[in-house]
Amino acid sequence: MRASLFSLIFFLTFSIYGQDVTISIDTLSENTYMLTGRGGNIGIYVGDNRVFMIDDQFAPLSNKIKAAIATLTNKPISYLVNTHMHGDHTGGNVNFNSETTTLIAHDNVRKKLKKNGLKNVEANKMSPSDYKKSLPEITYSEGMTFYDGDETIMALHVHNAHTDGDTMIYFLNENVLHMGDTYFSGRYPYIDLNNGGSIQGYIAAHHKALLLIDENTKIIPGHGRPSNKRELETYTAMLKDIQAIVQNEIDQGKTLDQVKNNSSLLSKYDATHGNGYINPEKMRETLYRSLR
Ligand SMILES: [Zn+2]
Repeated sequence: MRASLFSLIFFLTFSIYGQDVTISIDTLSENTYMLTGRGGNIGIYVGDNRVFMIDDQFAPLSNKIKAAIATLTNKPISYLVNTHMHGDHTGGNVNFNSETTTLIAHDNVRKKLKKNGLKNVEANKMSPSDYKKSLPEITYSEGMTFYDGDETIMALHVHNAHTDGDTMIYFLNENVLHMGDTYFSGRYPYIDLNNGGSIQGYIAAHHKALLLIDENTKIIPGHGRPSNKRELETYTAMLKDIQAIVQNEIDQGKTLDQVKNNSSLLSKYDATHGNGYINPEKMRETLYRSLR
């Protein structure tokens, strides 16, 4: 499939939980696309004979996501990688898993999906057969490399960033990097401390990403619009700055409540980054907890 480098957007509108959701498609390079609906951004690579997919949002959206992919190609989805365990990135696993589609993820993604899935089976919220289909079938501890014709696709684990099971996927020739939720472009990041995330790991993931990419790389963030190296550099600098600011408060003996309630602490970034899921207060609290 040949497509221009410029953004080509399809809209498919449908209903989920009584609300309309639109699946839009951004064309990032000759063979890669970003799909946006509800939940984490989906990455699609159309190879010589097969499709490589990254994340699958929520189960009720699966048919419309498939319809959106069908506007790009009729090749089968051979591989579906989960960037991490959260439901807005793995909710469609059951619907996409098939004889032709293999689910792949980091070891800890399978562990967490297993644990949560078993709870759902016990509570009769999930059938045993769906539970089996929801789990990654191939896992890795550090990473995995895929080859498709001339393209090299690298799945790289980054440690304790957004969670303890994050993967970034880099398409070498296409020069496209999917960062999963190790990047929330244009907004404060959600760092899931209860599932092994940390601010230090989050920043380290950015350093790893910055080593891989160049000025022409297109970045798919877990949430937010497509981004690039310059924006990621600015964002990483912000993270380091807010880390230092909160660390300084901790060093001065400030309590969690003092930091949480100090609305001037990160005010230079709040207006531009504090309007997403993570508001300024949550950001201050997360940093404090992570650094303590
Ligand atoms: Zn997430």
